[in-house]
Amino acid sequence: MSSDRGRLFVVSAPSGTGKTTLARELVRLVPNLGLSTSYTTRPIRAGERDGVDYHYVTAERFQAMRDEGAFIEWAEVFGRFYGTSVADTERRLAAGEDLVLVIDVQGAAAVRACGMPSVGIFVLPPSFPVLEARLRSRSRDPEEQIRCRLETARREIARLDGYDYVVVNDEVDRAVDCLRAIVIAERARREAMAGQVAAIVRSFE
Ligand code: 5GP
Repeated sequence: MSSDRGRLFVVSAPSGTGKTTLARELVRLVPNLGLSTSYTTRPIRAGERDGVDYHYVTAERFQAMRDEGAFIEWAEVFGRFYGTSVADTERRLAAGEDLVLVIDVQGAAAVRACGMPSVGIFVLPPSFPVLEARLRSRSRDPEEQIRCRLETARREIARLDGYDYVVVNDEVDRAVDCLRAIVIAERARREAMAGQVAAIVRSFE
């Protein structure tokens, strides 16, 4: 593991874009890159695991954590609360791990505002009709919720100017390649390479 502090990759996308699948595949393929586990008040879904997909907490516990300043950012999304832990994030970054935060646009804006260096990536669906078709084909949500998600998607896409990169999820493998390229490029930035560069430069003296 690197002795340098890790960096934050903030990934946002409208509901139904497939960001969770992309993020999981990304961390599977890239060494020393992990997924942050958020806290949420929403109920656990079939197939999810507490402490892996999310830390599932009561509204009271979430509020207490928020009041203690335990979150770097938090947001209310579709009537439930979600937040990123300061302690978990700090511990992992300090150990040199790069972290992916899959959070909504409000959370991403809060991370930028708090001054923590981060790389913002917005994942777009190929088009509005494709997103609508994907949300309907999941068919787990009632019509009213699908409309709400589509309206939210419109508002979220209007905020993509705040991000550094855009990835279109037209095809999973291609989109994951694009995400990997972003991580690799960010790791090769001169500032990020400073320690290694200094050692190489010294070897020339
Ligand atoms: P879901 O309940 O479908 O897993 O997630 C709903 C939305 O909440 C997604 O847009 C997801 O990115 C967002 N989300 C998940 N964790 C966090 C978090 O810690 N902070 C914020 N701001 N959004 C989150």
